[in-house]
Amino acid sequence: MNLKRLAGLDILSEKYAYAHDSQAGYVVASRVAERWVPTTCGYCSVGCGMLVGVKQGRAVAVRGNPLHPVNRGKLCPKGLSEHHTLDAQGRAHHPLLRKRGRMERVSWDEALGTMTERIAAIQARHGSGAFGVISTGQLTTEEFYTLGKLVQLGIGTNNYDGNTTLCMASAVSGYKRSFGSDGPPGCYEDLARADVILLIGANIADNHPILCQRLLENPDATLIVADPRVTKTAMMSDIHLPLKPRSDIALLNGMAHILIRDGLFNSDYVKRHTDGFGEIKEFLAGWTPERVAGITGLEEDVIERVAMLYGRAKAAFIGWTMGVNHSTQGTETVNAINNLALLTGHIGRAGAAPFSITGQCNAMGTREAGFASALPGYRKFESSADREELAALWKIAPERIPSQRGLAYPDIIEAALAKRIRALWIIATNPVVSFPNHEVLKQALETIEFLVVQDGFHPTPTSEFADLVLPAAIWGEKEGTYTNSERRVSKVNRAVDPPGDARPDFDIFLDLAGRLGVREELFPGWQTPRDAFEEWKHVSRGRMCDYSGLSWEAIEQSGGLQWGGERLYEDGEFATPNGKAKLFCINWQPFPEQPSREYPFVLNTGRTVEHWHTRTKTGVVPILQGMSPRAWMEMNPRDARRLGLKPHDRVSLVSARSRVDGVELRVTEIVAPGQVFMPFHYVETNSNCVTQSAYDPISREPNFKQSAVQVVKTEAANSGAKRWKI
Ligand code: SF4
Repeated sequence: MNLKRLAGLDILSEKYAYAHDSQAGYVVASRVAERWVPTTCGYCSVGCGMLVGVKQGRAVAVRGNPLHPVNRGKLCPKGLSEHHTLDAQGRAHHPLLRKRGRMERVSWDEALGTMTERIAAIQARHGSGAFGVISTGQLTTEEFYTLGKLVQLGIGTNNYDGNTTLCMASAVSGYKRSFGSDGPPGCYEDLARADVILLIGANIADNHPILCQRLLENPDATLIVADPRVTKTAMMSDIHLPLKPRSDIALLNGMAHILIRDGLFNSDYVKRHTDGFGEIKEFLAGWTPERVAGITGLEEDVIERVAMLYGRAKAAFIGWTMGVNHSTQGTETVNAINNLALLTGHIGRAGAAPFSITGQCNAMGTREAGFASALPGYRKFESSADREELAALWKIAPERIPSQRGLAYPDIIEAALAKRIRALWIIATNPVVSFPNHEVLKQALETIEFLVVQDGFHPTPTSEFADLVLPAAIWGEKEGTYTNSERRVSKVNRAVDPPGDARPDFDIFLDLAGRLGVREELFPGWQTPRDAFEEWKHVSRGRMCDYSGLSWEAIEQSGGLQWGGERLYEDGEFATPNGKAKLFCINWQPFPEQPSREYPFVLNTGRTVEHWHTRTKTGVVPILQGMSPRAWMEMNPRDARRLGLKPHDRVSLVSARSRVDGVELRVTEIVAPGQVFMPFHYVETNSNCVTQSAYDPISREPNFKQSAVQVVKTEAANSGAKRWKI
């Protein structure tokens, strides 16, 4: 073959042949689809509509759905190459059970039979709470609803949480405290309708790229980006606020101070729709621009200008993501954001919203229906009325429903270390890469007696620890719905069959329920995810996230429907007992691990557009992996000069906990002196080796940002160290 190529006799005519496709026009012949299946992207929470091209049972192409209201035909690099994940190397094909130290292929019958026996034995010995479950934001809403009932009512443990606690739990807690309920109040259209847009700790150009289209539609708006780093989003801004790490609460308090001082708040709105103005007015008096400038490092006149812009706007939008949520004060920062919106009445109107931009494709679905950190339908564990209502709907005794939330994700890991959790079921998540303070996580997984990992891929860094691997279908192989950040419920469809013996998570849950003897009681007559959707419609009726008027068909035809309408709180009625939102006095605190002589740099972590979370999927898509093949660390030229480091040197980051070696150095003004940045996607150079075990006391979200580290040139002995290959 090579000789023929060299001699020019083989011109790869088949490979380079082109043909006409009904959707795409002239394309490579191998990508001409026989049919196009409409669905929703399975990566991020923007929720782009797409069409998957299928040929001879294989997904051969993806295109943005031009009719979908979210993305209007556009997709980011991850979405455009998503079909490659389906037949990528490393898909999990068969159940595997550890026997005499080796993973052996077994039947589903043996896999789920063993799982049922082991759960029962461990719960009999150590109590029902000794079984923990950590799920994800990647399942469909129908699967979350099914899994929640199975875990809480069938298996009987409330030690159940999702990896969503690692990304947006603080937004949830903040919304609940300010407005009485979870639920992002605004919508994407607000980005196109606002005259002032403030993004805090939100690098949407990398993390939610299609949202940038909405910014481009609104060139007259003033875009303000508060971020310690000059991100791609900061480069799009009119005003970049390079505030010191974790000083956002001071900035928000300072802006609120100026608004009240200059009478730029909406006294009518405050009087009619909020509680706590007297206290907050007094509290904010101390947050002078001078004090705020000292904490944030911003000039006083810049703080004044930004506050004026926000206060005088006809409609102002505040969006945030992990820069806010990944903090021991994440919930409180959200409350400080909500304070600004409430003081000015920038909420419940076109262009005006405090808007949490969620992470995963269906993180919202688990918030609504998941039965992990809340009861389905945003009901509260601690409300006996909510429990009784649900029990009546499910025809079970109210005592079956837990009256309090079980352990949150970080507390499940700590309980595993302390042997209070003995068995763990991890579903579609990869904590070995994504959880902070890797050494603690590793010890916890090693301590667990029986670890089940259910995933579309194997091996993953986490499934390597498993005693049982359950192969699951992924996006493109199953049916249901996702909810995006603006509460839009979109249809997810099956384009191809899962590989080998892999099954949709829904089928695995029902099979397990049957073996536990609870299938007919909890899931009477259920066969398909549509059965779960129909029950969920009934259970959510009358709740804020009311699906009762939706149908799969209507969702499909419309390109997604928003529960609650375009915007929440348009009438100023909040979900609190007296209908008023709450203003909070939020004290700023310095972040927990301050730099020191030994560890002088503040490490910030984040993402890049080419990769998704822990790269289980994007790491096996050659075009994405080729564009961003390895981790890097950004350092300011002043620091690099001082340390004698050059661009592309391999460096080690060392914290009080552990170290990460062999990271490529980028010398750049994108980061300020004293700060360094590293993406968190890469297991080979895992930033979570150096991050800390510090959590928001309300939401339990980890403080992934601001770890104190030392940076040194990697010694040759460590530079080639690779513990994992993708
Ligand atoms: S922006 Fe998000 S939802 Fe849209 S294509 Fe990219 S990853 Fe998918």
